[in-house]
Amino acid sequence: MKLYELLIIGGGASGLAAAVTAHTMGIRNIAVLERLPRVGKKILATGNGRCNLSHVPVTSADYLGSYNPGHVLDVFGDVRDFFENLGLYCRTDDQGRMYPYSMTASAVLDALRMYAGEISKFCNQRVTRLEYKHALWHAFTEQGELFKAKKVIFSAGGTVGSQFGTDGSAWHMLADLGIPLVEGRAILCPIRSDPGILKELKGIRVKGAVTLLDRGRNMQTETGEIQFTEQTVSGICVFNLACRLDSRRFADYQLQINLCPELEGAEILSRLYTCQAVRPEADCENMLSGMIQKAIVRVILRQNQIRPGMPCMNLTDEQLRHLACSLQDFRFPVLGTVNAQAQASAGGVHGLALDENLQVKSHPGLYITGEAVDVYAPCGGYQLHWAWASGSTAAKACAKN
Ligand SMILES: Cc1cc2nc3c(=O)[nH]c(=O)nc-3n(C[C@H](O)[C@H](O)[C@H](O)COP(=O)(O)OP(=O)(O)OC[C@H]3O[C@@H](n4cnc5c(N)ncnc54)[C@H](O)[C@@H]3O)c2cc1C
Repeated sequence: MKLYELLIIGGGASGLAAAVTAHTMGIRNIAVLERLPRVGKKILATGNGRCNLSHVPVTSADYLGSYNPGHVLDVFGDVRDFFENLGLYCRTDDQGRMYPYSMTASAVLDALRMYAGEISKFCNQRVTRLEYKHALWHAFTEQGELFKAKKVIFSAGGTVGSQFGTDGSAWHMLADLGIPLVEGRAILCPIRSDPGILKELKGIRVKGAVTLLDRGRNMQTETGEIQFTEQTVSGICVFNLACRLDSRRFADYQLQINLCPELEGAEILSRLYTCQAVRPEADCENMLSGMIQKAIVRVILRQNQIRPGMPCMNLTDEQLRHLACSLQDFRFPVLGTVNAQAQASAGGVHGLALDENLQVKSHPGLYITGEAVDVYAPCGGYQLHWAWASGSTAAKACAKN
């Protein structure tokens, strides 16, 4: 049995931020319990190995979920200061995405690990049960160890990313304590659609705007690069739309792709008329391929029941109008999400169960951070910003109380 002032369950982004902050605030007897052989494995994979660690600006309006992150973001303050105090400098790209100056995720983990050097880290220790008795928290591990502490920060992540140690299995400890949880679901992931359409489009990337339709109603539009695979529509813009899906009713949704978002419908139609007038003998496939990729043209022609080889001079006004519409209304049914490729999950401890410093109201001394709180956001550095902010705020509250 080992006795500590503070136990941190999970050595990921928010757990390590909590550890370094607690250390800075003067807590000396800290232990981080991590189920994997090393801490911070997920951090190394973030931002394609570059770690998009925050966003400029970032406000509570950027976040969804049942917990209002406003106070936590305020207490955390400037993310640059947080990392510069660890010796890590950052840079921000023209879209507001902040990265370590070296553009390497390992630099972020190194900075956190170096600073957390004096903190006891117990790897290969999977916590399976939490109990509060005799004025102490007891954390039992699968490996048969018992750790005790006055305070616990639960930083065991969300429900996706089992290769990084997070599969949601840790949440049952919180449920066993009677803490209300919002069910976990994958977000920031590719969306599965009709393989019948996608088989012809696989490997294609286009720039466009994607709108998520819920029973025909516009939910959200995102622009950017759209990628097609054999089974999915993907790309950052699609990842962001996946945040909005209710997994109990995928059949209600459709993706509507606008392949020419910069053009008005009338402009597209006028371009088609011009193409028809300039090269009347060209076939329909070639006429459209001046604007969009041939594989997409073939699908759109088929959906409009037009033969690709037909000379374009034979297209009627009505057919041209339909084609112009199709280029801005290329539809895909939503069949599901690809959870195995998700970058984050929504759900976690319900906001009403937590105070403004992330302490569980019904269980003083227990704090929840990162993806284990029902707070989530689109791609762009917001998830990690929340991880640092929540870990750091919980640690400050532990030091003060
Ligand atoms: C491929 C990928 C790329 C991403 N890129 C970005 C990006 O560029 N920018 C961004 O903002 N976000 C990104 N994210 C999301 C971001 O990494 C997470 O939101 C963030 O790491 C969550 O922090 P956390 O502390 O809640 O959990 P995690 O960082 O997931 O850490 C949880 C830790 O707890 C450990 N653990 C779990 N259960 C137990 C247990 N029972 N006992 C002990 N330890 C346990 C896990 O092994 C893990 O180390 C990305 C995610 C992925 C998967």
